[in-house]
Amino acid sequence: MVTGYYFPNFHRDCGSMLQWERVKTSVEKGEIVACHQFGGDWMHVFELTKRLIEIESVTGNEKQVALFLRDHLSSLGYGVKLEEAAPERFNIEAFAGKPLVVLTTHLDTVPPFIPFREDDRFIYGRGACDAKGLIAAQIEAAERLRQEGENRIGLLFVVGEERDSAGALFANQRPPGSRYFIDGEPTENRLAVASKGSLRLEITARGRSAHSAYPEQGDSAILKLLDVLQDIRHIQLPVDPTLGSSTCNIGVLEGGMRPNVIADQARAEIMFRSVEPIDQLKRRLEETVRGRAEIDYRFEVPVMRLGAVEGFETTVVSYTSDVPFLDRWGQPFLLGPGSILDAHTDHERISKKELLKGVELYSRLARHLINEG
Ligand SMILES: [Zn+2]
Repeated sequence: MVTGYYFPNFHRDCGSMLQWERVKTSVEKGEIVACHQFGGDWMHVFELTKRLIEIESVTGNEKQVALFLRDHLSSLGYGVKLEEAAPERFNIEAFAGKPLVVLTTHLDTVPPFIPFREDDRFIYGRGACDAKGLIAAQIEAAERLRQEGENRIGLLFVVGEERDSAGALFANQRPPGSRYFIDGEPTENRLAVASKGSLRLEITARGRSAHSAYPEQGDSAILKLLDVLQDIRHIQLPVDPTLGSSTCNIGVLEGGMRPNVIADQARAEIMFRSVEPIDQLKRRLEETVRGRAEIDYRFEVPVMRLGAVEGFETTVVSYTSDVPFLDRWGQPFLLGPGSILDAHTDHERISKKELLKGVELYSRLARHLINEG
């Protein structure tokens, strides 16, 4: 596999011979080669969205889509870098020059893969709005700026946003000196001025097994866990004037072995969407559980307050993103076409009209921030 930088304009300057040599090498090495690579260069945002959806990239399996984007962005003339954020998992960085503004989103999707399909109004398939349509829109927005002669723009596409933000955490160790970044998540084309934090945790209760006919001989972990969960459900969670209320989802419940055995172990996986500082939430939780079960914190993201810009509609979002993990890439903004209510569903989709509007908003916001300096 070829890694490292491709320098700008080699395709336009060197013509199809060099391009063909590279495609041939990729074919020989058994890498996926899309037919556009034979011709290279620009693709319509709908076409690019389609190509991206067609390459499955469930978290952990982002390699092929990264290779595709490396080739595509190289053919457009960017300096492109593949960065191995985790074994065989690559972030893509593409710069037209020294970037002042970076457009970024993620390469991975949630499972399962859903194939591409379209009608007059929508593009459907896994990643349509989270976030492959947004990758296409950001590339097109960067292209518009370059056509105007503006090269202080960069692109960053990371692995792992849907699980642990591994790609963003890795990229944050190597900031390119940009002053702003615009993270793409579906906000219905409105600038998110705040996002809820999140806390994922596991609670395990332990007991003692016994024959179910003699429950006094045992100690049921399941009953213990149910009591704890019931108390957690009744925690008074705070309400924020901008963000609304904190919420709690008990997403996984497991325990016991047989109906005729007192369970010696039970566990639950819980996710909070928080409008208060995560440490405060942890304190509430610990006071509620009072040592009756073990709490194992798995992952947390703080509440974010983001910038607003005149002339852009605003919103607040309940979900988290890579924004908190890219703080060394500059001041954050969060914007993208599509609805979060379609993301992670079996009918994931993006409106074509909104996608085109997204291109316009990304280029307008980037231009505005570049002018701010
Ligand atoms: Zn996303």
